[in-house]
Amino acid sequence: MTVRDFSQDHAWLSINTATVRRQQGLEVPLDRIVDQCAERGIRAISPWRDQVAAVGIGRIARQLKAHGMQLSGYCRGGFYPATDAAGWQRALDDNRRAIDEAKTLDAPCLVLVVGSLPGAVEGQAAYTSLARARSEVHDGIAASLAYARSVGMPLAIEPLHPMQAAERSCINTLEQALDVCDALDPDQIGGLGVAVDTYHVWWDPKLQAQIGRAGQRRLLACHVSDWLTPTRDLLNDRGMVGDGVIEFKRIRAWMEAAGFAGFSEVEIFSQTWWQRAGGEVLDTCIARHRQVV
Ligand code: ZN
Repeated sequence: MTVRDFSQDHAWLSINTATVRRQQGLEVPLDRIVDQCAERGIRAISPWRDQVAAVGIGRIARQLKAHGMQLSGYCRGGFYPATDAAGWQRALDDNRRAIDEAKTLDAPCLVLVVGSLPGAVEGQAAYTSLARARSEVHDGIAASLAYARSVGMPLAIEPLHPMQAAERSCINTLEQALDVCDALDPDQIGGLGVAVDTYHVWWDPKLQAQIGRAGQRRLLACHVSDWLTPTRDLLNDRGMVGDGVIEFKRIRAWMEAAGFAGFSEVEIFSQTWWQRAGGEVLDTCIARHRQVV
């Protein structure tokens, strides 16, 4: 089993559009970002719902088709835990809309950042039971999965680094994500898997074993950005691939040995890179993809 050679071209590079959502400090509309990627022969992107909504989903769908571009994922669903029945229903309805949008854009999967303690992102957790949050996440994914299967949209659970355990995700390791997959899809019928984001899971001593456990059917996406030393901001200080300590080639070899053959999606939330020119950021992503991914 040989690992794909990325050094000669960038056929398997995808750009998560958050990476260039701000250019030289200014918000840039998604249709412009799509053109910038197409100009560079980038074949795939992964856009965010708010970016799509701002331009209009029909327009983005037509533009992608005109460029022959595909999605490597759609960001994102999740954030299930709520404090009351109304909040719970809002979360389920919102995830249903996200699934429909992913379908309209012909995404290979909807990425789930599952949520954790409700209100914590805004600074005040409404409750502090992680067990309750995990139970609600389990039930929420189960509800979304039934609908997602009916329309044929795979759901990819993305474990987040434990530093996000209060605010954004009570699923923090690949093992935990796969336990949920096994609980909700015991017979591996499909339609449920994981998004492996190197930034969130690179440190995990069980990473190789859990990638092997996931196997081809459950490895739905691969995100890359680097872990900087020191990390100055918990959310928006991700490093350009190659500027930090993550062994991308090693992790990709594990992914490919397990059967993954999809895009390597560069996803960088960075106050530093958002200050640079968009073309410079994309050209750097292409160069680093060839050199270090
Ligand atoms: Zn990610």
